[in-house]
Amino acid sequence: MKFFFVYLLFLNTLLYSQNREKTDSTAYYISLNYPAVHDNNYKEALLLIQKAILIAETNDNTKEQASQNYNLGKLYYDLKKYDDAIESLLTSTALYDRIKPSSKAVAANYTLGLCYMSKDNYDKATSYFDKAESIHTQLNLNDSAQLFNLQRGLIYKAKNNIELALPFFETIIALPNNAAISDTKAEALYQTGCIETQKNRSNLALNYLNKALDINEKSENLEQRSEILLALSNVYEKMLDKKTAYSYLKQHLNIKERISIRNNKRLGIDDYTKFKETQRLKETIITNNKIKEQEKTNKFSKLISILAIALISILSLLSLSLYKNNIIRNQTNLLLQEKNKELEIAKNKAEKASQARSEFLSTVSHELRTPLNAINGIAHLLLEENPKKRQLDYLSSLKFSGDYLTKFINEILEINKIESHNTEIEQTIFNLKKLLIDIQNSLKELALANNNNFILEVDPTIPDYLIGDPTKLSQIILNLINNALKFTEDGEIKVTVNLNTLEDNEATLYFEISDTGIGIPEDKLSSVFDSFSQGSTEVNRKYGGTGLGLTIVKKLIKMLGGKIKLKSIVDEGSSFSFNLAFKISDRPLEINTSPKIDYDSKLVNKKILLVEDNKINQMITKKMLHNKKIICEIIDNGEDAIESVRKNKYDLILMDVHLPGINGTTATESIRCFDKTTPIIALTAISLHENREMLLSFGMNEVITKPFIPEDFYSTIAQHV
Ligand code: ADP
Repeated sequence: MKFFFVYLLFLNTLLYSQNREKTDSTAYYISLNYPAVHDNNYKEALLLIQKAILIAETNDNTKEQASQNYNLGKLYYDLKKYDDAIESLLTSTALYDRIKPSSKAVAANYTLGLCYMSKDNYDKATSYFDKAESIHTQLNLNDSAQLFNLQRGLIYKAKNNIELALPFFETIIALPNNAAISDTKAEALYQTGCIETQKNRSNLALNYLNKALDINEKSENLEQRSEILLALSNVYEKMLDKKTAYSYLKQHLNIKERISIRNNKRLGIDDYTKFKETQRLKETIITNNKIKEQEKTNKFSKLISILAIALISILSLLSLSLYKNNIIRNQTNLLLQEKNKELEIAKNKAEKASQARSEFLSTVSHELRTPLNAINGIAHLLLEENPKKRQLDYLSSLKFSGDYLTKFINEILEINKIESHNTEIEQTIFNLKKLLIDIQNSLKELALANNNNFILEVDPTIPDYLIGDPTKLSQIILNLINNALKFTEDGEIKVTVNLNTLEDNEATLYFEISDTGIGIPEDKLSSVFDSFSQGSTEVNRKYGGTGLGLTIVKKLIKMLGGKIKLKSIVDEGSSFSFNLAFKISDRPLEINTSPKIDYDSKLVNKKILLVEDNKINQMITKKMLHNKKIICEIIDNGEDAIESVRKNKYDLILMDVHLPGINGTTATESIRCFDKTTPIIALTAISLHENREMLLSFGMNEVITKPFIPEDFYSTIAQHV
């Protein structure tokens, strides 16, 4: 009863021959599939259908998918692989439900019904046959209606409801013989024969079964034939005709063997198992791949998520830190700005204070100089007027005090000038050896007074002419030798100058001034360079001094690019040393070696205009000039002085720089507009902002600084009249 696939095969072959389209690859594989089925090459057919399904899925073609799943289910059914067949047919019928009804949908539902019949699941079988029939009716296809009757009969029979089954078989038996329904009719006869056998109506049974065999023998339906033969054998066995029963049984077994040979040919058991295993393997691989891909995608998306979160976190942190940094920077900036302002204010204050101090020192020392000039001048004049022995002592003390004060003020002014950077470095050609010998000569008397031996050692390789600031160098060396001579008795003072290096037209010289005097205690070695610092009160009391000399020396050496070093041992002596670099000059300085002037005779009867506002200074200067028989006219302001020069002829003008109204420099400038020849000598207590060069630039010929040393005063005048 399970072999009606032949009809369906026939039916479907028919349907397929109608619908076959050679438009896509699915159709192509199907076109290959059927010849394979016809050739009994089911394995090839299975593979081709699988390919066709894959293509239909790729193309998203529902109709083709349904059709190919039906074909697959159908093949499995043919091969009696009912579970596989049910799986494919369920897919196929579900797909057919989604599209327009067709004859193939009928076939799919019908075949599914057959599968359930084979699995003895009659309820399900009934429901799929009903569904097939309903589509069949809907499509108005009458040609295979008897198949549904046959199946109903079969189901009733299977459920032992023989009386209900028989009318369905009888309806089919009553149909006239026709090749299209021969298998169905043979089946109905066979089923009825079996029912009659059960009822022990052997003759009737034989009648139906023989008719069934007759019809069957015209077809190739071997399964049906083998069943009919077995049924006949059973009937004869019941009738105790063992011989005939045996003969039918033998025929039945022969057919069975043919069937099994044919089926084995179609698809060997091994082949099927292999095919299923390959298919399962493929599916597993695909599923695994899918899972792997999914896992990969999941991993990837997880990674992306993690990265995104990390990135967002980093960006957030970065923004936060930038924001915080910005706030901190702004705050710091504000703080810095405030601090800067404070510092600027403090700096301005300090600068103003320093300036005020310098101005104060400059003014005080300048103001002290004028009366000091008077004191020194008067002392000088009185000493010149043959004072009595007692008066001479007083006048000498007065002169000593005046000189001390002058030195003190000059030193304060010097330091003040250096500190306020108002000192300029000269660059003139000078002869170092001559300079040192001059210094040695000028200090000879002082050396003798303390019974000191004064040695001068100058390296003969030192170039004769150097370029530098000889005034400052003399100041440094004089100061140091003065100290050495002052603090040494019955000893030796040695001045050494060595050539350290000589390269690129530059000579670096090593200067050392050493003595064998009282020495300086170790704890005072650095403090002696501080302003107003002296070795001790005893030293001060015994030797005098201002405590400013070494301060000036240290500052001057620093200005010239050197650094002073001091080594000293108490009661053994001291040694001051420093290095200084000088450019070398290849040509000697043109020295105006003016012969010693006999200024006394040169000055007689010369007419000099003294422009001075200070009465005491007027009196002293006038007296000094009269002493040399000079005719002196005094004017106490600049304006009148200009007028007087315009009207009168003078041999020389002594011009005080600080005058009421227009000062000495302006007056000189005005005079130079109409008189370029009359020598003008500035008389000044040089202050912070004045220097020789500055005064000469206004048209003055020379500068005499107050308080003036009488000899210098007379010789300067003599040189210019
Ligand atoms: P002062 O006018 O007192 O000499 P200085 O600044 O020149 O001032 O010297 C400071 C102090 O250094 C001196 O008072 C003295 O104690 C010490 N001093 C300087 N030179 C020598 C020296 N050659 N030998 C011993 N002591 C010295």
